[in-house]
Amino acid sequence: MRYPGRAKHLGWIFGLVVLVPGVLLAVIAVRAINREEAYIEKQLEGTLLAEVTYLVSLVETELGRIESELADSAPLEPPDTEESALKAWRDASPLVSSPFLLSPEFEIIWPRGNGTLGDEQLSFLRWNSDFLSNRAEVPVYENIALAYKDEIVPAAKDEEGIGQMEFQQAKSQFEMSEEVKEKIYEQALEEGRKAQSRIVVPSASGAVTKEDPPPSIFISRDLRLDEITADRNLGLIPRFVENRLSLLFWKKLPDGRIIGCVISDSELRTRLVAPIPDVYTPVRILTLVDEQGRPLVAPQETEPRDYRRPFVARELSALLPLWEAAAYLTDPLLVSSRAGRIAKMLWVLISLLFVSILIGGTLVLRTVRAEVVLSRQKTTFVANVSHELKTPLTSIRMFSEMLLEGRQRNENKKQEYLSLMVSESERLTRLINNVLDFSRMEQGRKHYSMERLDLFALCTELVKSQRPRYEQSGFRLELRTRFPEDNARGQGWVQGDPEALKQSLLNLLSNAEKYSGNQKAIEVEIHQGQSWVFVDVMDRGKGVPHSQAKRIFEEFYRGDDSLTAKVRGSGLGLSITRRILRDHGGDVLYLPREGGGSIFRIQLPADSG
Ligand code: ADP
Repeated sequence: MRYPGRAKHLGWIFGLVVLVPGVLLAVIAVRAINREEAYIEKQLEGTLLAEVTYLVSLVETELGRIESELADSAPLEPPDTEESALKAWRDASPLVSSPFLLSPEFEIIWPRGNGTLGDEQLSFLRWNSDFLSNRAEVPVYENIALAYKDEIVPAAKDEEGIGQMEFQQAKSQFEMSEEVKEKIYEQALEEGRKAQSRIVVPSASGAVTKEDPPPSIFISRDLRLDEITADRNLGLIPRFVENRLSLLFWKKLPDGRIIGCVISDSELRTRLVAPIPDVYTPVRILTLVDEQGRPLVAPQETEPRDYRRPFVARELSALLPLWEAAAYLTDPLLVSSRAGRIAKMLWVLISLLFVSILIGGTLVLRTVRAEVVLSRQKTTFVANVSHELKTPLTSIRMFSEMLLEGRQRNENKKQEYLSLMVSESERLTRLINNVLDFSRMEQGRKHYSMERLDLFALCTELVKSQRPRYEQSGFRLELRTRFPEDNARGQGWVQGDPEALKQSLLNLLSNAEKYSGNQKAIEVEIHQGQSWVFVDVMDRGKGVPHSQAKRIFEEFYRGDDSLTAKVRGSGLGLSITRRILRDHGGDVLYLPREGGGSIFRIQLPADSG
């Protein structure tokens, strides 16, 4: 029995509550997976940037320490004529190389260009004498966010104590907004303050596509030495000489002279790399890169690494322009392989989820569909049962009224009416028994009173009692056995509840009658195999189509051919018969009959005594 309308309806619901959300979920998941790589990269970037920022602060601290170490170790009153004091300073501190002494009027007192100088002093003078004698300007660097903090954070006023906070605020705004960056760089350029290009191009965060190095955050302004030293007592000055960076230290002496030195390059580098926590871990390499793009420290690696392409980097300090703290991924494929692994796992999970939604949905749909079919069957069942009850009742009433009114005088006819009334009431009883049995079975309350019984005798008695009724409606009802004549071995005995077995047989006989059409011949044959006793109820009707052969034993199921449609029924007979027989350890089967018709075969375990 099919209900296409409802099934279609259910199909829509299925699509709406299972397929659509399932597909949407899959789409969302696929998008999320595709973003996984970017997400992991972002995470790594965050972690490494924190390390790099920390390294920058370590370097700043170290620079401060170097500055104060030099200030403390510098001689307070070196005599103008004696170079030994400067030499002693140099010997005392490994940081000092090329010491110098200037008069308050910026005349170079030492090293004097009088022919006794070594190569180091000569080259020092060549590059620095103009600057030290205040005749030439050098670029002095400053963080652009600090220089323009009032423009970046316009509302901020220079109040005591919040200067540093303002600077931080300006710095982060500057870093976050491309728009602000562009505006401030432009303004700086207009004011003649240039930003060099950075030496590295970080590759994280989509910067991969950028090939040109970004501008440095340190902008320079050309100043003479008197301007640099005007309002301070000591300091460091970065100097680019032939594209190499060297750091100059200076300090005002109490008498106004200025003492200073070039800081030893090798010592500076040693001191700056010393605080790096771990240069190499399985995930990243953390190092400092100089103005040439070369790492200050680097692990031994088989493949040469491009140190100008770090994963993340930050510029170090206005005192070391172009130097960077940089982090590199140890394995450049780390992000994609990690993302690949996670994506694979997510795919598996999503597929599982999708499959379980699909299976769950299908199961729910099936259950709902079965419920719908069942409820329809129940409604039909009630209508059918009412009708089936009504038909015998009507004829019983009709015949009893006729007899009561005494209209029929023919004794034979009277007898006929009475036997019809008996058989109609038997039909009623059988029907009611079926319904009652059904509800008992549903509630698990069906009980059998089992006894050893002769199935052949039971069939004989039943056929005898039913034959008149069947013959009256034009049927031939025959009972046969294949037992040997003497039945010496006592075939046909079983354990069973006689009433229940009778009801089963009556159900099969009644079906044979109902579905025989014009071929009105019913045969009952009893025979025995090794361990089973069989009762075949055979008719010459249309038989059961192959497609329905299994389903006819389901509750409420009724065939959908035209013959069945004409015959009233409850769809309970076969299902109850099967249950009764299975409760007896046997079964009922449908077999197509050779030459047309059906065989319904009861089989019960033989009880040979
Ligand atoms: P009902 O007879 O009340 O419909 P049953 O459970 O007894 O219910 O039978 C289920 C279905 O099996 C019938 O609707 C009919 O299509 C089919 N059927 C049963 N017995 C026969 C038979 N002897 N010949 C052909 N079809 C049968």
